[in-house]
Amino acid sequence: MSCWLQDKTWEDAAKAIEASGGVAIIPVGSVEQHGYHLPLGTDSYVAITLAEDAAEQTGAVVTPPVWFGWSPHHMVRPGTITIRPEVLADLTYDIIKSVAAHGLKKIILINGHRIVNIIWMQICAERAQRELGVTVKIYDPAYMSKDIVGKLGFGPVGHAEEVESSHMLCRYPELCHLERAKDNPIKETPLFSVDPCFTHDTLCYVPSTLEHARKNAEIAGGTAGEPTKSDPEKGRIYHEHLVKNLVAVIRMLQEAG
Ligand SMILES: [Zn+2]
Repeated sequence: MSCWLQDKTWEDAAKAIEASGGVAIIPVGSVEQHGYHLPLGTDSYVAITLAEDAAEQTGAVVTPPVWFGWSPHHMVRPGTITIRPEVLADLTYDIIKSVAAHGLKKIILINGHRIVNIIWMQICAERAQRELGVTVKIYDPAYMSKDIVGKLGFGPVGHAEEVESSHMLCRYPELCHLERAKDNPIKETPLFSVDPCFTHDTLCYVPSTLEHARKNAEIAGGTAGEPTKSDPEKGRIYHEHLVKNLVAVIRMLQEAG
């Protein structure tokens, strides 16, 4: 049976909630340019595939995805849809409030849109915990893959780079066009890096200006990184690492009573 709430009748939803140990997953992504080779929905697909595989092993309930993210810097390419972060925080708060009313009080937000969504997710999560008495965890693949990204030989987190592209090649090969990919290697920028995996001193993240984003878009169609080094087998290992850790987080919440 599908893990998705929207696929169930209300009676089936009640049974699934009962069996879930109170855990709901809300996949969140973005619809934004991802270079010449990946679909606009990449960040949402990443969150969706992780949610599906972890829910299958644990019985967690998965809400319909929040397809949109905060993407002002990607408006330089067509198809990008950006939603104001305060709207996203309110929307996600209302989803949490609704599922909590039906007994899902342990919430995992999967963030497929990396560092950009985290800002409003933290504001939403804090408010939900304070006002609704729920527990909220933010599960971000970039933070949750530090142990494995280096071992797989991937470069730093960029955009539509080899990490994201390998993952997509493994899970959604029919949506990828690797033959069109163009590299835009990430240069070391001490103090200015915004890579969550960067281990040295750094400033905090601010979404790029349109001028900066435009320059990147001109170099390699919006890619930052080296997608031509992508490999679906590495994507599989990366995916399994993320699912294993997501399952561990769900089980921890389920066992917390
Ligand atoms: Zn992405």
